[in-house]
Amino acid sequence: MPDLAHNLDAVHQRIALAARIAGRDPGSIALLAVSKTFPAEDVRAAHVAGQRAFGENYVQEALTKIGALSDLRASLAWHFIGPLQSNKTRPVAEHFDWVHSVDRLKIAQRLSEQRPDTAPALNVCLQVNISGEASKSGVTPEEALDVARQVAALPRLRLRGLMAIPEPAGDVEQQRVPHRALRELFDRLRAQGLDLDTLSMGMSGDLEAAVLEGATIVRVGTAIFGARDYSH
Ligand SMILES: *Cc1c(COP(=O)(O)O)cnc(C)c1O
Repeated sequence: MPDLAHNLDAVHQRIALAARIAGRDPGSIALLAVSKTFPAEDVRAAHVAGQRAFGENYVQEALTKIGALSDLRASLAWHFIGPLQSNKTRPVAEHFDWVHSVDRLKIAQRLSEQRPDTAPALNVCLQVNISGEASKSGVTPEEALDVARQVAALPRLRLRGLMAIPEPAGDVEQQRVPHRALRELFDRLRAQGLDLDTLSMGMSGDLEAAVLEGATIVRVGTAIFGARDYSH
């Protein structure tokens, strides 16, 4: 097992340094530990080290892990960040606290219908295809306002903000370009009256660029848990 306490500390230091450069309060940036492909025991160890929010991409894998860690449920926040098919929305609506990857209205409608009455409203972000890649999911920046208004009106969801997975870019200045575009879209939506507080952007390789452009949640996997092994 990697030294999770050490890795978490190093990531917090990266966030704090970028925040200081940006003149931002480091406390305004939350760290989401992306635990996909890693076992429940790694999540448990990260929890011992103080980490509380975890991101998962695959529904079945996540449900197994959430079940194995049910003793910690009250002090964990589970965020779904992967592509979501409409036939898999129900367990996500039932077991997660957040969904970052809402990429069309139909998914939002199903999550709202399936969110149990006993649970608080499900926190969601609208995923935006900010780099305009054909292969990436997400609404286009042009349709974001319209979709955001409709998602915000759903009774069992709370639209918190926007999420993006920009194309990898070489240096920090290049990395900042799509993050800035997402933040400008976020500002426009807020100016149109949408009550948003979350910009989910930045991963292990580009979290500094994201913090410099206003990220409020960075989603970090590799820098905490190590390289992922997809072979089994
Ligand atoms: C896997 C993943 C991450 C974490 O990526 P790292 O490069 O390992 O930090 C963040 N966001 C999403 C949507 C992911 O799928």
